[in-house]
Amino acid sequence: MDSIFDDAQSRLTEVFSRIDLPDDVRERLAHPKRSLTVSIPVRMDDGSLKVFTGHRVQFDDTRGPTKGGIRFHPDVTLDEVTSLSFWMTIKCAIMGLPFGGAKGGVVVNPKNLSLLEVERLSRGYVRAIADIIGPKRDIPAPDVYTNSTIMGWMADEYSTIRREQLPAVITGKPVHLNGSLGRESATGRGALHILDQWAELQGINPKETTVAIQGFGNAGYHFARLAFQHGYKIVAVSDSKGAIYTERGLHPDSVMEHKRQYQELKAIYCDTSVCETGDFTTFSNEELVTMKVDVLVLAALENVITIDNADRIQAKTILEIANGPITSQADAILNQHDITVLPDVLANAGGVTVSYFEWVQNRAGLYWEEEEVNERLAKFMRREAGHIFKRAEKEETTLRTAAYLHGVERIAGAIQERGTREYFTG
Ligand code: GLU
Repeated sequence: MDSIFDDAQSRLTEVFSRIDLPDDVRERLAHPKRSLTVSIPVRMDDGSLKVFTGHRVQFDDTRGPTKGGIRFHPDVTLDEVTSLSFWMTIKCAIMGLPFGGAKGGVVVNPKNLSLLEVERLSRGYVRAIADIIGPKRDIPAPDVYTNSTIMGWMADEYSTIRREQLPAVITGKPVHLNGSLGRESATGRGALHILDQWAELQGINPKETTVAIQGFGNAGYHFARLAFQHGYKIVAVSDSKGAIYTERGLHPDSVMEHKRQYQELKAIYCDTSVCETGDFTTFSNEELVTMKVDVLVLAALENVITIDNADRIQAKTILEIANGPITSQADAILNQHDITVLPDVLANAGGVTVSYFEWVQNRAGLYWEEEEVNERLAKFMRREAGHIFKRAEKEETTLRTAAYLHGVERIAGAIQERGTREYFTG
């Protein structure tokens, strides 16, 4: 397969063809500022020593310290982490957060490790990258297969190394370890704000809207839970093992409870307080992606819709909660078929926005109530989405291009204000 980073970069071609920016901006956005690859030795429970590979890429810090999650996944590569750090740069700029973009990853399947091994690996990763992170340099957070407990261990390790309490080095921590209320559900909640705002604009009634969700991890689950409360009908969900479908609609909380207990998805629905398992169809993830629904939510990994299946997509709207689930070639096909894509760099930005709130609270030493966090999140999401939706209409372009234009202009502003060739040579 082609490089993910080349594909990610190709999005900029359209952006640069639409706005006149100095060469400095293109040059800066074509290269990551710093990439670090480390070996992390971990003592396993059976006494053996295993060495894991980790990466941290800081893409651009023109607008502030770099920011972005850490994923633990067997398929992590430097190419993937670099692309994710590029998307974080664009995302933070789109949301107007005072951050650049970064991303980290460790090549591991945490499901094959004991909890003690995961803790040793998490602390080992922080020791390996401690020289380049910090509350004013680069601030990690959770991503695929990492969670608040892991962030708590990482912040603790960093504070131990620096010999002072520095919770603002990492966000997405547990609430009792200086985390922020509302961070856990922020990505799903933010994505729902974007879908709701789009639905309002298009005159779509949630109660008449069917939704299929690929990926039932943290973001997918919280999105499902909140969308269900807003009246959307969740007819299908999937995890890494496969998908389930039921016409009657699922009750996300009960499905999650069953998954936690038995590690499997089952169609459970509830009538007032009575819940029951009903008839459902099981099928593959690939089939879920091409099924006929109003809204398809992609909440797993990148490269889900590619040139191979883009022609078969039947959903009218796609909400990208994962980073990079649609390749640029597939995007062009969806666009020809008039399928609206609510793009990742906007739709999943709720997570990093509440991470920003957590960092602000850590640095101020003043903690907000959940209601305040949620209100501020709504304000940020709706404000930036409003600009992007208007811009897409005015400039007759896709929401993705409009979002990139919005973010790149902010980054370009910061680059230009430090002086470009035009400034120095008059
Ligand atoms: N991993 C999340 C993302 O891709 C959150 C990043 C953060 O909170 O810094 O946006």
